Amino acid sequence: MSTPIDWHVRAKTAAFATDAWIDGRYTPAADGKRFARISPIDGRHLADVAFCGVADVDRAVASGRAAFADGRWSKLAPAARKKILQRAADLIDAHADELALTETLDMGKPIADSLAVDVPGTTRCLRWFAEAVDKIYDEIAPTGPHALALITREPVGVVGAVVPWNFPMIMAMWKLAPALAAGNSVVLKPAEQSPLTALRLAALFAEAGLPDGVLNVVPGDGPVTGRAIGLHGDIDAVGFTGSTEIGKLFLQYSGQSNMKRVWLECGGKSPLIIMRDCRDLARAAEIAASAIFYNQGEMCTAGSRLLLDAPIRDEFLDLVLGHARARNIGNPLDIATDVGAMVEQRHMQRVLEYVAVGAAEGARLRVGGAQVRAETGGFYVEPTVFDQVTPTMRIAQEEIFGPVLAALEFDGIDQAISIANGTIYGLGSAIFTRDIDTALRASRALRAGLVYVNCYDADDTTVPFGGFGQSGNGRDKSLHAFDKYTELKTTWIALS
Ligand code: NAD
Repeated sequence: MSTPIDWHVRAKTAAFATDAWIDGRYTPAADGKRFARISPIDGRHLADVAFCGVADVDRAVASGRAAFADGRWSKLAPAARKKILQRAADLIDAHADELALTETLDMGKPIADSLAVDVPGTTRCLRWFAEAVDKIYDEIAPTGPHALALITREPVGVVGAVVPWNFPMIMAMWKLAPALAAGNSVVLKPAEQSPLTALRLAALFAEAGLPDGVLNVVPGDGPVTGRAIGLHGDIDAVGFTGSTEIGKLFLQYSGQSNMKRVWLECGGKSPLIIMRDCRDLARAAEIAASAIFYNQGEMCTAGSRLLLDAPIRDEFLDLVLGHARARNIGNPLDIATDVGAMVEQRHMQRVLEYVAVGAAEGARLRVGGAQVRAETGGFYVEPTVFDQVTPTMRIAQEEIFGPVLAALEFDGIDQAISIANGTIYGLGSAIFTRDIDTALRASRALRAGLVYVNCYDADDTTVPFGGFGQSGNGRDKSLHAFDKYTELKTTWIALS
């Protein structure tokens, strides 16, 4: 049996790529600016990372455009692209320990999750799109005998990918894999809170044979680097994952520049409806706790609203409270930790402010609600549960993006659905019932891109992921993701 890895020891010697990746090589920002990466685990300084400005984004886009125009990637046979992307997935797997450690140090999630979820989720996605790309056929329209009308898909050109920090590699790969597989060039901007794994991935893609210029990575903040991507006149489409507030800005950037396609995966306030006939309350409570506390609640699909049928309310809530208390908050480098650090101090403060808002609004705090482990220099918040929440309270309406659960009560399925649909969002949703009619009725009535029945956060690359309403537009994952990164062309050929 091999000795378990001591991640604390490994962390001491961890080294990171810190320059931007433009035109196939690491390069500092043109003006030499850098920003500090502080680990949320203990406040330690990790690295100073290149802060890309407008000039760097211009360089990256020009490199992507040149690569696209000469066809070094865009005109490669799909099977050849597939091979290179599969090789990249193999290399990512081969560097799993290094990447998992980097992810954990940079954004604070437990190392066990980085190893079990983030790295394999990244390569699964990449392999799936690589595999798909030489199995998709174009179409011929049934126009009649006097014409041949071809309906073909072409890569859009240069894609900007702007991603958040909660699953840095996976969120990046949900954009990169379909965009690259389809033949585009990509300029990726990781979140300023978690740029390190994206910078490493770029070199692994190059090692796999991805031609220079096809993938560029420009670290920096939102108002400078992200905005430069949003407003760029030579970017053809943007794939964005992040908050609804910033998603709206990208729609404006597009209107102010070149009408680039803007695809948005934004926030959520996802409801879990627990009916009185729920088959297994204990199992459902375990799922409900995981839906809000996994990844410190930093989940777009966090099941942040728990809608409880009156007769089972107290019993169910007690079970969830038990799970909240049992969570092991600890150093993310300890393999047994299941609640790690919030990504940064500012975000932790925001979450704690919401706890104060909930109490001030009259909700009852049942467990948690405080910062813990402050002596470590890191940013940790206890799993937190409020009950006696009413639908119009801010903690029932606004995305907190932390481990804060709002429990509400309903009377009958109609009221449950009305409460569930009563926010600006529409990302995840779930119903727990043993009645097939109730399940189907709810699944049709719930205004959400994802409806789970007797489960939550089930995940597979084969199914589309995205939201209704202000949770966004377009879908990541599945063959539908290609819609975002390809243009549809009709070619009429007259036949004599
Ligand atoms: P955010 O919106 O603050 O940032 C997302 C990205 O946008 C970052 O790269 C950031 O640098 C950039 N950005 C910020 N301000 C910008 C500006 N003014 N102009 C251009 N770009 C700007 O979001 P976050 O805090 O990184 O992530 C949390 C949010 O992401 C939550 O709302 C969460 O629900 C959402 N999210 C959604 C999904 C999904 O698939 N629907 C998945 C994960 C996270």
